[in-house]
Amino acid sequence: MTEQNTGPLEQVNTQSAPSELRITDMRIAVVGGGGWRWPIIKLETNQGLVGLGEVRDGASGRYALMLKNRLLGENPCDIDRLFQKIKQFGGHGRLGGGVCGIEMALCDLAGKAFGVPAYMFAGGKYREDKVKVYADTPLKKDPEEMGNALLGRMDRGFEFLKMDIGLWIASEFEGGVINKHVAAESATLMHPFTGIQVTDYGISKMQEYVGAVRDIIGYEIPLASDHFGHMGVENAIRIGKALDQFTLAWYEDMIPWQFVDQWQALKAGVDTPVCTGEDIYCLDGFKPLVDARAISVAHPDLATSGGILETKRIADYCRDAGIGLALHQAGSPVVAMANAQAAMAMENFVALEMHSVDNPWWNDLVTMVGQDGPMIKNGYVQVTDAPGLGLELNEEVIAEHLAQASSRRQYGAYPSGAFEDTSDWDELDAHDRVWS
Ligand SMILES: [Mg+2]
Repeated sequence: MTEQNTGPLEQVNTQSAPSELRITDMRIAVVGGGGWRWPIIKLETNQGLVGLGEVRDGASGRYALMLKNRLLGENPCDIDRLFQKIKQFGGHGRLGGGVCGIEMALCDLAGKAFGVPAYMFAGGKYREDKVKVYADTPLKKDPEEMGNALLGRMDRGFEFLKMDIGLWIASEFEGGVINKHVAAESATLMHPFTGIQVTDYGISKMQEYVGAVRDIIGYEIPLASDHFGHMGVENAIRIGKALDQFTLAWYEDMIPWQFVDQWQALKAGVDTPVCTGEDIYCLDGFKPLVDARAISVAHPDLATSGGILETKRIADYCRDAGIGLALHQAGSPVVAMANAQAAMAMENFVALEMHSVDNPWWNDLVTMVGQDGPMIKNGYVQVTDAPGLGLELNEEVIAEHLAQASSRRQYGAYPSGAFEDTSDWDELDAHDRVWS
């Protein structure tokens, strides 16, 4: 408690003087490896408190740095006002990464200033100190190999799983996929425009694959599915109907989230929950899908969807429509813990994604405050009442795992080491108003 606090504030265990707190600097370190890129940001203050945040996986750290000059001198405890100030510089997909990374850091700072966990700013908790996670398990051609990989997850305590099922299963077989040659270039072509179709034979091979996996892991553990490939909604429905018998937790991103009427058709056409959202920016982006009751599970990525408080607003909007919410997450422990904080405050929360459960150095990037590592224990993240996000960075480990600098240097004015000087980004040279 600071000495100048009197009256009711005496009951608040402030770690600093919140009303005098000011942002003085933003630093960044881009951690990476194995195809991943995680820009971790630090917001520094005039009271020595440091707020941690993370730009969306795979996005440029510049999306955060360009906001530095809009934050210098501001009080980070004004989380919502500052979010509204910078919201116009975010967008769907990776473009939301800078705004969201900063929002996490503001919640971390405000939590540290007032001595409360970040979830308190989202309204307090709906669950007892732990958040269920689900382990992503990327593509394996052999279903037995996939089944055994999932079994390994179950042995480690995971109670919720996800695997990739896609066109690639059917395309392994002659006569399984029509317009197969388009698949290679379809990554940049939206689903309705590829002309790819799956034959009944191809679908039977997908059924065999999922059946073989279920035979290994059984039917009592939730198993979600993702990465079906780029084909139109009619084919998605045919595949969905054929796989309904395996009672998967959800079909994810079978078609682009932008096509609300197609999502309505998909939801009506299959008996398994349908899920999307990892590239949608803010509540306004989710509203059309939710208003149309076109999804069963919303799947925001907190590093695109608007950070902790905006994702809580998305969760509440979904809750009121009877829609559950799972959290997409593919970043470092910083963003993982920001997600866990948000999940604590959501009534309709289902599970939080983890992509790096096989990465040997992932846990070492941070030290958790008030508990021992690793972050994921028996399929859950523990969330204590440690202030803010409840994390400290292990900067030696971060320095050992910086992403390759070459692609970043060519644009200049972008630090290639860990948390180096960013004063090139201090000056505001734009008029930001979006109304006249
Ligand atoms: Mg996905």
